[in-house]
Amino acid sequence: MSIVVKPLDADKRGTCPAEFSFGATFSDHMFSQDYEKGKGWFNAEVSPYHALTLDPSAAVLHYSQEIFEGLKAYRNQQGNINLFRPFENFKRFNRSAKRMVMPEVDEQFHLQALKALIELDHAWVPTQQGSSLYIRPTMIATSAKLGLGASANYTHYIIVGPAGAYFQGGFNPISVYIADKYRRAVAGGVGEAKTGGNYAASLYASEEVAQLGYSQVLWLDAVEGRFIEEVGAMNICFVYDNKRIVTPSLSGSILPGITRDSILKLAPTLGYEVSEERLDVNQIVADIASGKITECFGCGTAAVISPVGKLCLTGKDYIINNNQSGAVSKHLYDVLTGIQYGTVADPFGWIEEIVVK
Ligand SMILES: *Cc1c(COP(=O)(O)O)cnc(C)c1O
Repeated sequence: MSIVVKPLDADKRGTCPAEFSFGATFSDHMFSQDYEKGKGWFNAEVSPYHALTLDPSAAVLHYSQEIFEGLKAYRNQQGNINLFRPFENFKRFNRSAKRMVMPEVDEQFHLQALKALIELDHAWVPTQQGSSLYIRPTMIATSAKLGLGASANYTHYIIVGPAGAYFQGGFNPISVYIADKYRRAVAGGVGEAKTGGNYAASLYASEEVAQLGYSQVLWLDAVEGRFIEEVGAMNICFVYDNKRIVTPSLSGSILPGITRDSILKLAPTLGYEVSEERLDVNQIVADIASGKITECFGCGTAAVISPVGKLCLTGKDYIINNNQSGAVSKHLYDVLTGIQYGTVADPFGWIEEIVVK
């Protein structure tokens, strides 16, 4: 299927502003296409960024039949643009689509659509150190009907906007509160899918822990409230004795992060051991108290690696590495971001380069 490009006139186009706030500034154009049951995908186009028109009864607004992705494009030293493992995002998009009974998007075509958008809006990929272009592929159910059931119509779109360096005030640790009352997801549910409802359901707990002075919620499994799953919208890793990196095994309710997967593949090549295990929260806090756990960090596309300095379990704070960021976290952060920006060799073939014309 071909993509129709309807660019703004050159004199109406913007460039990346010097100041922007994450997720609130978007580029000049967007990609979109529509789907109808029996007909498939049609209307693929890159057109000026615009508001959507939805019937008030549109399925997405009532029953949250919706999925999204999050990835980034990085300006490399040649002035071209690096995408990091985009096929992993497109594959996950399709897994989320399947789970939410939505149509899949051909992964090659998804990349072609993203490239067409970024080639047109390349001036929106910021050049400041540590900045990037955040990419948000989304799919929503658009059928106008309140009857509960999978929609017959969908819109898939991609919007992009500049994202500043995540660590403005340095690579500083966050404080985390282990959720005791609330659960994020249950095995058999939709925790593995990047679907809106999971995030709406997490807001109440986030607000509560913010009032207590913590910046993120750590989620436990929903069956026993005992096994560690994720931190906020990031996966979580613990470092034992400065050399062994441990992360919860994918339980069916954990979102399988691409950053998590990249760390599991990269860390052994840097001399670390890695393992995926069921992690009992009581054992984890005991290992922090005894000093066996030397670092803890969250990982995800937004921050790449976010050190955790403090974990609170039922009112008691456990301090990790003196509430400082650690050497292992920094090492992984430097190598992973180096690969993304093209300053460190990419032995894995993770980078998909877009040449700016
Ligand atoms: C997106 C997301 C992650 C991180 O995934 P990445 O692919 O590494 O960005 C982790 N947990 C949740 C709940 C997420 O939504």
